[in-house]
Amino acid sequence: MTAIDVAVIGAGPAGAVASRQLALCGYRVVLIGPVPEVPRVGESLPGAARPLLRDLGLLEHLERSLPQACIGNRSAWGGAHLLTHDFMVDPHGAGWHLNRARFDELLREAALLAGVQWWRERLGRVSSSTDGWQLQWAHKSITARWLIDASGRASIVARRLGVGRVRDQALVAVYAWAQSDNRDRRTLIESVDKGWWYRASLPDGRCVAALHTCADHAAAIQGCRRAWLEQLEGTRHLRSCLDSQWSLPRACDASGGQLRQWSGDGWLAVGDAALAFDPLSSQGLFNALYTALRGAEAVDKALQGQLQAAESYVSVLHSVRQAYLRQIGYHYRREQRWPNESFWQERNGYRER
Ligand SMILES: Cc1cc2nc3c(=O)[nH]c(=O)nc-3n(C[C@H](O)[C@H](O)[C@H](O)COP(=O)(O)OP(=O)(O)OC[C@H]3O[C@@H](n4cnc5c(N)ncnc54)[C@H](O)[C@@H]3O)c2cc1C
Repeated sequence: MTAIDVAVIGAGPAGAVASRQLALCGYRVVLIGPVPEVPRVGESLPGAARPLLRDLGLLEHLERSLPQACIGNRSAWGGAHLLTHDFMVDPHGAGWHLNRARFDELLREAALLAGVQWWRERLGRVSSSTDGWQLQWAHKSITARWLIDASGRASIVARRLGVGRVRDQALVAVYAWAQSDNRDRRTLIESVDKGWWYRASLPDGRCVAALHTCADHAAAIQGCRRAWLEQLEGTRHLRSCLDSQWSLPRACDASGGQLRQWSGDGWLAVGDAALAFDPLSSQGLFNALYTALRGAEAVDKALQGQLQAAESYVSVLHSVRQAYLRQIGYHYRREQRWPNESFWQERNGYRER
């Protein structure tokens, strides 16, 4: 049986950063989780993440992952015409279209360099023990004083402990990739009657287009290229990429939501496991990095006997959630062209559940 201080479950950005921060404080940390098999949609990180990455000592890792600069947004939202928001006028500067697999890999590499052990397997059995927690697999087990749930929307640790999730309005992204000669480094966003589209260039020469819609509509088009292309054809601006050779559309859950409880005796959740965001906010990765940092600080303090540490962390999450709801509600209310469509009706009344 291996005895450690902290087990971090989930080897995505939140897990890599939280485990690294604790290892840098001198704790024995094991990061538990496989490399995800399903490729990510194709995400962007806003320039606002630059100071945070710099403080974490991870800006260089982002640069080494060879992202593509994201220099602005063009959006047709609340009206048919495209408006441009140039990040030149943003105090944080340009953001990045990420090479997500490489970015995650470099974050894990940084964690390993800090002394984290990485077990590339799924979480085994979890039970509480006199020393904290016992995690068991068929041929090994581990005791940990603290657990961090960084398992993304699965929030596997919290669920095993009986803590449920609250989902906001259901949102499904139906997305496909294509090779692209279009070198426009801006993200294109267009709202339509059934939801909204997103198109972005990726650093590897492809682009991604995704329709974010309700579950029923998504079910009718996922896995069917013809149905997805019909939706694309119905757009005013994204249809310019109709002739590309699109992959078969896939679907994934993109709803915002949160855990009913963010922390308990000897555990807390970070990243999407704690709080998941509608991709319209472009806030998910920033939140994963930020809550990983704050969550690791809380665990460090708790291990030193500061009993209020987890409570302070929970109040941080509460503020983040409130700010997110204000922001996302504001964006959805700006689109009033389809008052009779259920997608927009649900979102125009966006509020805390
Ligand atoms: C369609 C879509 C588009 C998005 N676009 C953007 C964007 O443009 N910008 C942005 O900032 N964010 C975006 N996001 C959000 C972003 O992807 C997440 O916020 C981010 O990945 C959260 O990081 P994380 O480390 O918390 O979770 P994840 O990246 O999900 O990592 C969780 C890890 O836990 C692992 N895990 C799960 N179950 C277990 C288990 N049982 N045992 C061990 N490990 C387990 C998983 O394999 C995974 O590796 C988007 C999300 C979606 C769905």
